[in-house]
Amino acid sequence: ALKITNKCINCDMCEPECPNEAISMGFDTYEIDPNKCTECVGYYDHSTCQRVCPIQNAIIADPEHVETQEELLAKFERLKHLS
Ligand code: SF4
Ligand code: SF4
Repeated sequence: ALKITNKCINCDMCEPECPNEAISMGFDTYEIDPNKCTECVGYYDHSTCQRVCPIQNAIIADPEHVETQEELLAKFERLKHLS
C-alpha cells in the first residue's frame, strides 16, 4: 500500500481519483486505508494518486505495508468481490 505523509496540503486532488476509494480525510491530512489500497494494481499501470499529487513525497510507499504484485492483485480480487 501507499501512504500519505505530513507533506500533504489537503488539496483534494487524489481522493476522487482512487479507484478503490482508499483515500479519505483524516485528522490532519488525507489518509490511505492500507486494506483498500492495491497501489492501483488491477486498474492502472501507475499509482494514480501519486500521479495527480502536486507535492513531492506527499504520497510514498508505506514501509509498514510492503506487498508483492501477487498480494496486491489478490487484494484487488478480494475487494472486487466485496463490491
Ligand atoms: Fe488508491 Fe491507487 Fe493511490 Fe492506492 S495507489 S490509494 S489504490 S489511487
Ligand atoms: Fe495531499 Fe497530495 Fe492528496 Fe493533495 S493530492 S490531498 S497534497 S496527498
